[in-house]
Amino acid sequence: MPRVQRPDSYYEEIKRKFAEERDLRLAYRPEGTAQFTSDLDGAFAKYGIDPYAGPVTPREPIRDAVEVLFIGGGFSALLTSARLREKGVESIRIVERGGDVGGTWYWNRYPGAACDVVAYDYLPLLDETGYVPTRHYAQAPEIFAYCQLIAKRYDLYDLAVFQTTVTSTVWNEAEQMWHIETDRGDSMRARFVICANGTLSKPKLSRIAGMETFKGHSFHTSRWDYDYTGANLENLKDKVVGIIGTGATAVQAVPGLGENAKELYVFQRTPSSIDVRDDWATDMEWASKLKPGWQAKRRAKALTDPVFTDEQKARFAAESREQKIARQERDNIDYMMRIHRRIEETVKDKATADSLKPWYMFMCKRPCFHNDYLPTFNRPSVHLVDTHGKGITQITEKGPVFDGKQYELDVLIYATGFEVQKTGIYNRIIGRNGVDLEDKYRDGIRTLLGIHTQGFPNMFIMGGYQASFQFNLTDMLQTQGDHIAACIDYVRANGHRTIDPTVDAEEWWVQEVIRHRGKTSRNMECTPGYYNFEGESNRRQDGNYNGGFKQYFDHQGAVRARMTENFEFD
Ligand code: NDP
Repeated sequence: MPRVQRPDSYYEEIKRKFAEERDLRLAYRPEGTAQFTSDLDGAFAKYGIDPYAGPVTPREPIRDAVEVLFIGGGFSALLTSARLREKGVESIRIVERGGDVGGTWYWNRYPGAACDVVAYDYLPLLDETGYVPTRHYAQAPEIFAYCQLIAKRYDLYDLAVFQTTVTSTVWNEAEQMWHIETDRGDSMRARFVICANGTLSKPKLSRIAGMETFKGHSFHTSRWDYDYTGANLENLKDKVVGIIGTGATAVQAVPGLGENAKELYVFQRTPSSIDVRDDWATDMEWASKLKPGWQAKRRAKALTDPVFTDEQKARFAAESREQKIARQERDNIDYMMRIHRRIEETVKDKATADSLKPWYMFMCKRPCFHNDYLPTFNRPSVHLVDTHGKGITQITEKGPVFDGKQYELDVLIYATGFEVQKTGIYNRIIGRNGVDLEDKYRDGIRTLLGIHTQGFPNMFIMGGYQASFQFNLTDMLQTQGDHIAACIDYVRANGHRTIDPTVDAEEWWVQEVIRHRGKTSRNMECTPGYYNFEGESNRRQDGNYNGGFKQYFDHQGAVRARMTENFEFD
């Protein structure tokens, strides 16, 4: 469709409004990331308890040694294990806090949970397992079952231990092994350790005055209490329900809650952008014609540069950097205004529709896709409590208070997100010479490719900072898994016992990360959220590598092509 030409003033006015909305939010929460807590102990301990696994089954402490140990049993561990098995590694143990493999898909069982990435791209190892997802966008139960299928297929249950949290991981130089302690009294050893604890796995809560005094029922979305709500939310028909947060999780949970609760209050601080969800059941005829290696071909596409016509190439070449940024900004604003129109067309009450409009640049927050979220606000029993960027700051024994109004609830659900990309979330990691990883990172994260960190030999990190970030996370994780398996294979094949990046290689990567961060002011112009560290502007190297996914992948290959320059081996 030809683009409507709008005057500069149109875009300037919208950008002014974006800035105003951002400033409002920054002023309300100058504490940045510290506004949240993920220290779920004391009165908050209940928000971390696993409601799915049942009571912990007693077992004897484990005191053995394995070759590779994964901390965490989600997709990172599963897709890397597959590659390790292909290379002949037999002794693989997953240590997992939950009661099964699955990671995100083990924990997030809230009603409506599904993945927004096309399933044929998101689910890893489809070529290897021969599995074809049943829908274009897979629902959470299917993805969880697929994780179990991978674990069975690669015999990962044999040595796995569940309901077990790694509490310390300490390098033993004499043995050149990692010593791993857990909350179950285990003292395991491993030649290689892979921190596969996920990018968003530890639930966090907004620190709200009085939240511990609430007398009703409450839980976090990643610990859904089906005993309370009923399997199909049928127990909510006589309940007044509140949900705090309107991110990607709430967007999926709200339609079911709205349909089943007697009354639903959605406490909104910043609205999400909600686009169409174009979902369908997999066409079996299409599936039957898939040729071996079909998924690898799709994955390879994510690693190819976009193809432009000659006309586009000429146009881009003639553009200055400023013009390019302005063009992208206009495209992003046009997108957001289309999102606004969708709200106006769907939500009948004008004030509610206005409140649901996101005023920030596309991708400042994680974009959402749903067909039932917006219509839910047309139900008379569903109420949007728009806190205009302030958020809920007070909770009494009856429920949240906003603008002097008390909202009396039976149940309050926290959809307030997760700790972001932290290595060693429940776990103290001590490398060579007794160095604590937290201390090493105190003045800024230091890694090679976001995967290796000097002084922590035979340790690999997945999904942490200083790696590339992809909307389809498994694209990125698969490159990391392939890289890690190749490194371990190299160590084994060459008769080494350890691999540790050189100081120079690590320094090169830190500078590479810094060089690509903050190239534009875009991040700082964004409304606060976890994508920009809630507006904290001093975190230059403590973020992802922004040089591009293909470049990240190419760097992995280049690092492996010069193993002896980039690593020290023992
Ligand atoms: P988010 O961190 O994205 O959202 C947290 C929400 O809580 C935000 O809306 C935030 O508002 C709000 N909030 C925090 N404190 C308060 C407060 N005091 N009062 C009112 N609101 C408050 O967490 P999610 O669990 O929603 O999503 C995390 C990520 O998980 C997503 O970004 C996505 O990457 C992934 N995910 C993917 C899904 C998919 O594929 N469809 C589904 C679910 C999750 P504010 O925006 O103002 O900070």
